[in-house]
Amino acid sequence: MNILVINAGSSSLKYQLLNPETGDLLAKGLCERIGIDGKFTYKPQVEGKKVLDAIDVAMPTHSEAIQAVLDALVDAENGVIGSMKEIDAVGHRVVHGGEAFNKSVLITDEVMKAIEDCIPLAPLHNPANLTGIRACQKVMPGVPMVAVFDTAFHQTMPAKAYMYALPYEYYENDKVRRYGFHGTSHKYVAGRAAAMLGKKPEELKLISCHLGNGSSVTAVDGGKSVDTSMGFTPLAGLPMGTRAGDLDAGILQYVMNKYGLSIDEMLNVLNKKSGVEGLSGVSSDFRDLENAAAEGNEKASLSREKFAYEVKKYVGAYAAAMGGVDAIIFTAGVGENDKAIRAMVCKGLEYMGVKLDDEANSVRGKETVISTADSKVKVLLIPTNEELMIAMDTASIVKG
Ligand code: ADP
Repeated sequence: MNILVINAGSSSLKYQLLNPETGDLLAKGLCERIGIDGKFTYKPQVEGKKVLDAIDVAMPTHSEAIQAVLDALVDAENGVIGSMKEIDAVGHRVVHGGEAFNKSVLITDEVMKAIEDCIPLAPLHNPANLTGIRACQKVMPGVPMVAVFDTAFHQTMPAKAYMYALPYEYYENDKVRRYGFHGTSHKYVAGRAAAMLGKKPEELKLISCHLGNGSSVTAVDGGKSVDTSMGFTPLAGLPMGTRAGDLDAGILQYVMNKYGLSIDEMLNVLNKKSGVEGLSGVSSDFRDLENAAAEGNEKASLSREKFAYEVKKYVGAYAAAMGGVDAIIFTAGVGENDKAIRAMVCKGLEYMGVKLDDEANSVRGKETVISTADSKVKVLLIPTNEELMIAMDTASIVKG
């Protein structure tokens, strides 16, 4: 079985062709500058097949982009499948499913309407995701399509976790609540953690730390998300590459008045000029911060310390929320690669039964238990694979 996974943005589109049963990746790539000129990248994962690196392909709309993907996949010389018939279904990443979707679904007209209804909650992402779906429907008529939502995994949160202490009508009338994001990643690594520990998901209390350019922590109790650090938007929770994370809303009024900023300008600062980049003045990339810190840049050190400290606080909070924790998971760019950040998060959690194994913690990018054999709480490094999760969900839905 082959599933084409599509992640459509407003002018770009990422794709992967995977076999969800074996986990094999056949090809992946990227369409960029859609609606401008069009650049196409194709990376077949089969030996002897040629890579196309940002070649010119006219892409006035997403339809031409999808057509370029299909042409490359079935190309007589460098393709990885014989014909389009070998694509069993398409899995689409959709950012926001609001309260309408608590799991992945087969795309129907009603589903398209419900995704449209969520546009006010994700005005940049959902329209692009819808454009990607429509383009696929046009170019691949009759092929089943599934929507996989970033928010769906978190729909199991109890009201005390998802409600803000705001006037109730903002929730009732305007859907203002915590939704959470990175759900596909948290779900995938929670499933892998259970497999690694040889336990059923229902038996485990997990804290999943997705630490990348965007970062979030999720409490997973019995296989279900019960709390997560991102909120109504992805701006909440941890400080990130360039996002501020949680802050005192009173700061907005003070800074906006002082510098005459509009709310859009203020939000631009919070989304794009804050986080570890804003704090350090160096970079949003944790490797650059590590190098700068090693050369004595104190703000770079502080930004890494601040980041790890906030992750640690969420770990403590979610252990308290769940009444314990069996394993802490590190995933995504920073979580998978930055052993110093993992060590900073775990240091001082010995009282909770967390003992990191320094040697095991030197590993990067592969599934590993990085706690000591006698650590009561296991610490796991698990590379995330959102595309595989989307392909697995898609396969299970089309198989019924
Ligand atoms: P995104 O949220 O964009 O999917 P990723 O999960 O790919 O982000 O994470 C990207 C971040 O991971 C980079 O900005 C960088 O800070 C960090 N990163 C990647 N590789 C390393 C590494 N070897 N050491 C430390 N940090 C790394």
